[in-house]
Amino acid sequence: MSYQAPIKDMLFVMNELAGLNVVSQLPGCEDATIDTVEAVLEENAKFCGEVIAPLNHPSDKEPSFWHDGQVTTAAGFKVAFQAFAESGWQGVQHPTEFGGQGLPKLVATPCTEMLNAASISFALVALLSDGAIEALLTAGSDEQKARYLEPLITGKWTGTMNLTEPQAGSDLAAVRTRAVPQGDGTYKIFGTKIYITYGEHDMAENIIHLVLARTPDAPPGVKGISLFIVPKFMINEDGSPGERNDAHCVSIEHKLGIKASPTAVLQFGDNGGAIGTLVGEENRGLEYMFIMMNAARFGVGLQGIGLAERAYQQAVAFAKERVQSRDLAGSAGPVAIIHHPDVRRMLMSMRAQTEAARALAYVGAGISDVAHYHADETTRRANLAVYEYLVPIIKGWSTEMSENVARDGVQVHGGMGFIEETGAAQHYRDAKILTIYEGTTAIQANDLVGRKTARDGGAVAKAIIDQVRETEAALGELQGADFAAISKQLGLGAAALEEVVDFVVANVKPNIKGVFAGSVLYLKLAGIVLGGWQMGRAALVAQKKLEAGEGDAAFLRAKIATARFFADHILSGAQGLRSAIVEGSAGVLALDVEQF
Ligand SMILES: Cc1cc2nc3c(=O)[nH]c(=O)nc-3n(C[C@H](O)[C@H](O)[C@H](O)COP(=O)(O)OP(=O)(O)OC[C@H]3O[C@@H](n4cnc5c(N)ncnc54)[C@H](O)[C@@H]3O)c2cc1C
Repeated sequence: MSYQAPIKDMLFVMNELAGLNVVSQLPGCEDATIDTVEAVLEENAKFCGEVIAPLNHPSDKEPSFWHDGQVTTAAGFKVAFQAFAESGWQGVQHPTEFGGQGLPKLVATPCTEMLNAASISFALVALLSDGAIEALLTAGSDEQKARYLEPLITGKWTGTMNLTEPQAGSDLAAVRTRAVPQGDGTYKIFGTKIYITYGEHDMAENIIHLVLARTPDAPPGVKGISLFIVPKFMINEDGSPGERNDAHCVSIEHKLGIKASPTAVLQFGDNGGAIGTLVGEENRGLEYMFIMMNAARFGVGLQGIGLAERAYQQAVAFAKERVQSRDLAGSAGPVAIIHHPDVRRMLMSMRAQTEAARALAYVGAGISDVAHYHADETTRRANLAVYEYLVPIIKGWSTEMSENVARDGVQVHGGMGFIEETGAAQHYRDAKILTIYEGTTAIQANDLVGRKTARDGGAVAKAIIDQVRETEAALGELQGADFAAISKQLGLGAAALEEVVDFVVANVKPNIKGVFAGSVLYLKLAGIVLGGWQMGRAALVAQKKLEAGEGDAAFLRAKIATARFFADHILSGAQGLRSAIVEGSAGVLALDVEQF
């Protein structure tokens, strides 16, 4: 059940696909030289593999627990978080002026993947803090930044994200938590928030809750939601934690997976009101929360990729050890199951999907860095539009993918996969939450259809598809069956995606339900085509390097074979998705509610 970070693949993707050389030239990113990046990845891999990964399985068996308002986290988490914070891992991508390392997102991305591969339950505390940090960097006042950012970035305190209420899940317009101004710049907060990840724990000195609430005269719906900072302990003038605020954890949930991550019910204001301060302006809370959510959605996509990698590694190790049945080609006795073609198919499927999702996410991170740091505003904007198109795909597709990969991981183990001792079942259980929190796959798909495709008439999507076609053409010029097959499937996939984008744009007004009936399928189609595109690009680079006699030939040949597998087995599914979206909406909506 150990975890070896796939550093070779990570560096290949960063250097050859995600443009580390471009990112490291951006103003403010000069420290991201290849030597520094390699050193950061090596160190992070060591920390995640040696310190965090061993906690994953035991913390699932003996998870965090609640007693009398306090949460005791799983054995080892507190000490590990201290080590995480002291080594500066919370601050990898955050500004140096607040104690961070100031490295680009592209460098933080593999670190996040590794932490999540090691333990999703543990990694969540860092993910939520990252979201809070992003929101404060964007919308916090100078005073709030000075007070909260350094302790959050250095891991002295942690952050949370308080959106969900019993009646307000996917639909945040229904948020009811109240914020009553006190006339001194503070507000008193009253309400119940549910499912708050790390809403209570014993791993840090203070917890900074970011809370969505409504002021008394706020307009109804999403336009009347404001964002507040509500610390667990009030902050003294010298920055130390002071009196306990009126925000209390009344229970934590018992869950299918990520059992060691405490999921809290928080009660605000039962004893007179929890004291909060407004972030930014009143009624703009959801806008700020979207900043957090974009960062967190990308992070949840990485959770899926990390989990898929771990499940794959475990399945490979098992498949090499477990001896069962004779080789089809003939053998004296039974062989390790990795020799059976169907086990190979499952392992290749796990590997190919994980590598494709990794490549797409890292490319997204590089684009985000250009959108953030580039000197030219037009370039920044163009890259931001592409990044924003990719975020729901990276979140939605990578997490759906991780569930499939974890399921195959169980299958490779046979009966042992169903037994908890191996850990394969834990990956499967843990994967399930990833398609739910930070917006379900359907909510990601709504975003992809509405804000990211229909709003600009499919312009960004089409520009990306043009690039896919360039890769298709370049692959078509290479000799050999592998490249011909990848090029062919990429061409078919691009055509399918283009047809679907046209369908969405043309029908979103006249047949809105028909379009949304296929929204998740569109997201999945975009995922496999853009993932296949990255695998196609990887195959091109690999071939070029092989011809030049550069690099690790075995790694490069395996990359081409994996890209071929992805094209034949995953990308080929584009045709079915296209027809279900364009021709299948009637069947989704045919029955009356009473007929169910
Ligand atoms: C372990 C865990 C940790 C969490 N951590 C946090 C946290 O830290 N902070 C926080 O604020 N929240 C957190 N959440 C809440 C999480 O974000 C919500 O559960 C999630 O957004 C879904 O909301 P819901 O549970 O109310 O489901 P619902 O919104 O009731 O959805 C039920 C089903 O209906 C579908 N649906 C709903 N609306 C639409 C629509 N418009 N179009 C298509 N389909 C739709 C959904 O896709 C889903 O399949 C967490 C939840 C869990 C379980």
